[in-house]
Amino acid sequence: MRRVSAAGAAHAGQVAVPEPVPLKGRALRERIEALESVARQLEPGRPERDRLRSPVIAHSESFYEGLDDALTYRVTDDKGAGLLEIPIAEEGIGIEKALRIVGEHVDRAGLNPAAGGHLAYVPGGGLFASSLGDYLADVGNHYAGVFFATPGAVRMENLLVRWMARLVGYPEGALGTLSSGGSIANLTAIVTARDAMEVGGRRVHRSPVYLTQQVHHCVTKALRLAGLAEAPLRRVPMDERFRMRPDELARMIAADRAAGLRPWLVVASSGTTDTGAIDPVDEIAEVAEAAGVWLHVDAAYGGFFLLTGIGRSKIRGLECSDSVVMDPHKGLFLPYGTGALLVRQGELLARSQWYEANYLQDALDSTEEVSPADLSPELTRHFRGLRMWLPLVLHGVAPFRAALEEKIQLCRYFYEELSGIPGMQRGPYPELSVALYRYVPRAGDANEFNARLIREVRRDGRVFLSSTTIDGTFWLRLAVLCFRTHRRHVDLALQVLREKIAEIEG
Ligand SMILES: *Cc1c(COP(=O)(O)O)cnc(C)c1O
Repeated sequence: MRRVSAAGAAHAGQVAVPEPVPLKGRALRERIEALESVARQLEPGRPERDRLRSPVIAHSESFYEGLDDALTYRVTDDKGAGLLEIPIAEEGIGIEKALRIVGEHVDRAGLNPAAGGHLAYVPGGGLFASSLGDYLADVGNHYAGVFFATPGAVRMENLLVRWMARLVGYPEGALGTLSSGGSIANLTAIVTARDAMEVGGRRVHRSPVYLTQQVHHCVTKALRLAGLAEAPLRRVPMDERFRMRPDELARMIAADRAAGLRPWLVVASSGTTDTGAIDPVDEIAEVAEAAGVWLHVDAAYGGFFLLTGIGRSKIRGLECSDSVVMDPHKGLFLPYGTGALLVRQGELLARSQWYEANYLQDALDSTEEVSPADLSPELTRHFRGLRMWLPLVLHGVAPFRAALEEKIQLCRYFYEELSGIPGMQRGPYPELSVALYRYVPRAGDANEFNARLIREVRRDGRVFLSSTTIDGTFWLRLAVLCFRTHRRHVDLALQVLREKIAEIEG
């Protein structure tokens, strides 16, 4: 722990000032007037708003226009460090200069997740309609935490939660919230499970958790954050396609029971980040049910594929889980900052997030709609509903279904085309929109070759790919999920791979 002493504060530029004598009467009124005249700069009038808004629109339009040819990854010399030379000063700098700074130091350096050639990790989106929703949400600054404050905003979020709950197949009584992302949603799910299963104190080290090696790292981190670091982690063996084996799960739970432990949580994935593997949730649910264990499903990546026929044929059994996480900023193409948690027995979520606050006594009177603040760790929060609701009602669901199936088909197309590249080794047939592959060189170490290949692809920048290591084998990944990714980008990825392989082999 470092505490800043008075001397330290002075060093940091905060010189201690004696408290001034309070002003009174006329002097007080004059001071208030003087302050108001400066403070009013924070509230531009109509002409000034137009003058500020139009360069912002022009900036975003030039961003859109450049997207088609934009590099998906760009290494700039200073990696945006020029930003540090622009002080937060007493005087403002004007919108043109501010936008130039954003253009130069933020828009250009690093990864461009808005580009269709972003085929790495789990790509994001950034729907235009969401940006309009965010604009309106920010202008109104509606308070979306409590029903009493902005009933419409809360209804909007809750109807989106119910829409997702129906997609998953949850019954009436399910509740959930929009979170900032999948990690926080997973953390909230684990806290809910912990409280529902009464895991705490001296029980923790005797309460094992079951998951596979492929579970997202935010789940094990969440266990730690939830005070459950001592809960034994049981890595359930997987089949050859990286899916949890329900028979092994049943065997491990039985062994732990026999040893006097208290199994309480299974975490399955509907679409792992690494390989897109879909755990057999329907079979896992039977094991969990028989064992009286909470079943949480991390569907942050895969959940919205339920909007497609292919997805529904593959993602089975979510309705039997106790909680599910989905990421609208992945499969619904929203801008970053939107995850979702759904809990089948909603009252267990509410019970876990229970609080008392005297100063909110007027606000806690709603019986019509549950308030997000009662279901999540957040009290004051961004009105996330509008950025999700607006695109869904503006476009309808059909284009989302089409885009999601297009991503699956593009991944299959890539997988098929890979067989035309001599030396290419393919991983398992893609479950959703992630494919694994690696090049086996004529001579030398394959892992080293592929590590170099991925570096060269990045340096090239036309497409952005990522890699993973599974059991010591270095694999390249293709992950298709950006709504802007179309066949052209996948063809480009194939072409870049061909070129770079030839160069390195050359
Ligand atoms: C992305 C992802 C997460 C983490 O979600 P964030 O929104 O990045 O916090 C968790 N699980 C899976 C399977 C993911 O793909």
